[in-house]
Amino acid sequence: MEELTDEMAIDANICAVAKSLHAKNMLAAADGNISYRLEDETIYITPSGVSKAFMKPDEIAVVNIDGEVFTGSPSSELKMHLKIYQQCPMAKAIVHAHPPVATAWTIARPELQELPADILSEVILACGSIPIVKFAFPGTDEMGENLSPYLPEHRVLLLAHHGALAWGETLEEAHRGMERLEHSAMVLQAAVTLGGLHKLPDEVVEKLKDRRKAMGELVL
Ligand SMILES: [Zn+2]
Repeated sequence: MEELTDEMAIDANICAVAKSLHAKNMLAAADGNISYRLEDETIYITPSGVSKAFMKPDEIAVVNIDGEVFTGSPSSELKMHLKIYQQCPMAKAIVHAHPPVATAWTIARPELQELPADILSEVILACGSIPIVKFAFPGTDEMGENLSPYLPEHRVLLLAHHGALAWGETLEEAHRGMERLEHSAMVLQAAVTLGGLHKLPDEVVEKLKDRRKAMGELVL
């Protein structure tokens, strides 16, 4: 996918992703944030305290990789975005949302280290695995420290008792990661309701992991 360089196209794409996330109930009130990085390390990021579904393109803030603000009022979770960009050279776009079912897994099953992947082939094929990152107060350096061990290996991550993060080489990939996560979490939730989580045979899980390895790192 080609890099977006035109400011209006970037702002319009970010607004479109925000509307889609809101329509799928992954953003309430002023929740969530979306950012996009250019080759020169200029970063476009959604504003703080604004409902992302009704955000206007010109409200999107512009900062640099050190967090210096050029225009607008960037998200309070800017530090989390900068940490990902600093640690993941491939990251061009980040989506942070509060997907209800995926987040609920981190609350209901505090013993889990990741969203169960040995049950659902799509999780392995699309993302490899989706780790659950220990809770940190939103907007703090601690959030970045907790994320650090999982980067750049993981592109889709759950934030315990908070929400989720997905990054990608394009805005579409980051968006896809968030959709994939919530959809997988909903399938798993339905399975629990209908009778329980039944694992795939170990050899199938291994084969799926091999297939994923051969496919590369993009979130599908
Ligand atoms: Zn959040």
